Amino acid sequence: MLYLTKLQLQAELNRCLTCKTQPCMSACPVSCNPQEFIRYAREGEWENAVHAITRYNPMGQTCGLICPDKFCMKACTRCHVDFPINIPRVQATILNEHRTQKEGTCGVALNGFRIAIIGAGPAGMAAAMVLGKSGFCVDIYESRDEVGGALNMIPEERLPHSVIEKDWSFIFEPDRMRLLLNSHVEDPAELCKEYDGVIVATGEPNCLALRIPGEELSVSYMDYLYHPEQYRTSGCVAVIGGGNVAVDCALTAARLGARSVEMFIRRRLVDMRISKKEHMELLEHKINANGMMSPEKIEKNGDLLKLWVRRNVFDGEKWTALPNSTIALPYFDLVIRAIGSRADEKNESIPTLIYAGDCKTGGSTIVEAIASGKNAAEAMIATVLHQ
Ligand SMILES: Cc1cc2nc3c(=O)[nH]c(=O)nc-3n(C[C@H](O)[C@H](O)[C@H](O)COP(=O)(O)OP(=O)(O)OC[C@H]3O[C@@H](n4cnc5c(N)ncnc54)[C@H](O)[C@@H]3O)c2cc1C
Ligand code: SF4
Ligand code: SF4
Repeated sequence: MLYLTKLQLQAELNRCLTCKTQPCMSACPVSCNPQEFIRYAREGEWENAVHAITRYNPMGQTCGLICPDKFCMKACTRCHVDFPINIPRVQATILNEHRTQKEGTCGVALNGFRIAIIGAGPAGMAAAMVLGKSGFCVDIYESRDEVGGALNMIPEERLPHSVIEKDWSFIFEPDRMRLLLNSHVEDPAELCKEYDGVIVATGEPNCLALRIPGEELSVSYMDYLYHPEQYRTSGCVAVIGGGNVAVDCALTAARLGARSVEMFIRRRLVDMRISKKEHMELLEHKINANGMMSPEKIEKNGDLLKLWVRRNVFDGEKWTALPNSTIALPYFDLVIRAIGSRADEKNESIPTLIYAGDCKTGGSTIVEAIASGKNAAEAMIATVLHQ
């Protein structure tokens, strides 16, 4: 279930110890304060509870559904008593049920400066909110036909995409923001000639290649996860990679009716950086994760694909190929590559060109991208106002 019931919410609110030191806030990358919003919610002051979330986090509902448990929950004092408060779900439920008003711009007048933001993912949206509140006009250029960036690759079961739109509708201020969809920017430096500053929040749009013969017969995780219905199959699916994104690919293929799904992971299963919940879901969907296996070649096999994989060995420091261990698996309908992605080249020679989110830090989480977008906007404000 995505949201808590009334009873569940009340139980979670009552379990909070209202810790004076607020470890949950210190662990949150955007300094959202669960102690505060839980306290308000417990007293039935819903408007204050909503405001306590949204003034720090413009995408609080989306975060509530997908923030990993390594931040506020890991720091929750209740871990030492029994188990942590389910802070993300409490946050999502409060916003789902009680948010009615925008944070707004508090009457801040436009200051005449114009900023371009490239990329309407979490980092770009957060930057837009901070700049709009400070009186800047913002044009947001987005290659795709929707806001949300990589969040749109997250399966609906985990994150209904209408929630991304909802968060955006509370950020968007039509008197000072323009969203330009289907507007790919080739060279951010060119936009610097037109605007007082440019924030680049383009994520990591380039999928890493396997660099094996027959690679073109496989599908990238981006192509797959943006439009999984186009690749629906009742046959066998191979997923190359062992991170969260690979897990989302495997689960999506299983949910869409694949007869079997196998993952091929270069390292050991114990090295997979995925949560316990994700491990459990792989088991529930009977997905076989093959550790220490790397792909070597993909070939056509009639209507199917033949995937050649080899065994790796780990000597305590590095992984190497085990000689003569290659086997051919001739039965796949679909091979998905999900071994990561990288950002476009950066241009760090222009002071009014500032990078934010995954394109700056490498693959991260939604809440870290939001923090980075907010910081980039603050840096832009300081640069533009003092130049
Ligand atoms: C499958 C998947 C599952 C994930 N699951 C989770 C999760 O459960 N929890 C979590 O916290 N995080 C998760 N993440 C990570 C999270 O989505 C990212 O960290 C976050 O979206 C990064 O935000 P960003 O704004 O930096 O970049 P992005 O979200 O990648 O947004 C960048 C935007 O820029 C646009 N763009 C790129 N180049 C240009 C250009 N030249 N011109 C115009 N527009 C451009 C892109 O179209 C995109 O919309 C997941 C990611 C994926 C792929
Ligand atoms: S750490 Fe946990 S128990 Fe303490 S205030 Fe935060 S949410 Fe409540
Ligand atoms: S934004 Fe995410 S990390 Fe921060 S308090 Fe909320 S759920 Fe926790």
